[in-house]
Amino acid sequence: MITLKSPRELEIMARGGSILGATLRLMRETVRPGLTTEDIDAVAEEFIRSHAGATPSFKGLYGFPKSLCTSIDEEIVHGIPSRKRPLSEGSIVSVDCGVFLEGLHVDAATTIPVGQVSAQAERLMAVTQECLAAGVAAARLGNHIGDIGHAVQTVAEAAGFGVVRELVGHGIGSRFHEDPQVPNHGQPRRGPALREGMTLAIEPMITEGSYETRTLADKWTVVTADGKLSAHFEHTVAVTRDGPLVLTNPPG
Ligand code: MG
Ligand code: MG
Repeated sequence: MITLKSPRELEIMARGGSILGATLRLMRETVRPGLTTEDIDAVAEEFIRSHAGATPSFKGLYGFPKSLCTSIDEEIVHGIPSRKRPLSEGSIVSVDCGVFLEGLHVDAATTIPVGQVSAQAERLMAVTQECLAAGVAAARLGNHIGDIGHAVQTVAEAAGFGVVRELVGHGIGSRFHEDPQVPNHGQPRRGPALREGMTLAIEPMITEGSYETRTLADKWTVVTADGKLSAHFEHTVAVTRDGPLVLTNPPG
């Protein structure tokens, strides 16, 4: 079921989104070679909980043990922070996080370079951000869910990169994953029509090579089947009369 949010609910999600945006900016400042993914998870959890009433959405969600998903290099999503996973110079780490505030969730992700990275890794991150921007821009009244995926896919494939199919964006609100699914590929005018008050987590997962995936033995971490790099950027966006409203990266 697709839920439409009231202005009051959008205001709460914007406040949660402000905390989440600040958390991801803090991660960009914190990430450096030698820290482990568990180290940055602890920094994020403490920061989220320092805001009255805010908790990390991921902790305990479907039994996930941490506040962040940290996915390094060929890992696409759902990597589990661990003190056994030091960040190495030249890697890229995707940091995915959610905040729960006053009964509502928000969801966002960014991919962060660890020290100096290759030109190809930089290009993959830049194109994935462009994919997210194109997807967000398509989240407007008169469009359908398929227009979002089509916009993402067009940018990714023009750059020669792959679009992950098995994992998709989603509606979000009082439950972390709500309808509709928001694929990163698709046809214009297909899928549910966008309506005022819909809140969508738009999250391109873009690969350097093939878009085929596999899941590791930990049953969480999803990696590229060919071992090539993947990047992930995400915002929670509200569909409004005035156009797409990004809730997880407010102005200022
Ligand atoms: Mg996410
Ligand atoms: Mg999401």
